[in-house]
Amino acid sequence: MICPYCNKEMEQGVIENQSEIAWKAKRHLFGKAEFHKGSVVLSKHSFLKGSAVVAHLCRECEKVIIDYKDDKCDFNKEKSE
Ligand SMILES: [Zn+2]
Repeated sequence: MICPYCNKEMEQGVIENQSEIAWKAKRHLFGKAEFHKGSVVLSKHSFLKGSAVVAHLCRECEKVIIDYKDDKCDFNKEKSE
């Protein structure tokens, strides 16, 4: 992936967590993202695997990008075929 800020190649990696990884409009200490309006689950929680998303890093711009289109960033995505 090319960094949209500096147009250099980004490094692909992973962000891991022990519970789900989600974007929310504001901080909530309790409750899964599904209970908060407008939230986006980037990786569902798995008791065996934790959660993980593919993330791209630009060390130059100090940015991290997660492309969550079609859940493709989620390591725990359920296989639909
Ligand atoms: Zn950059």
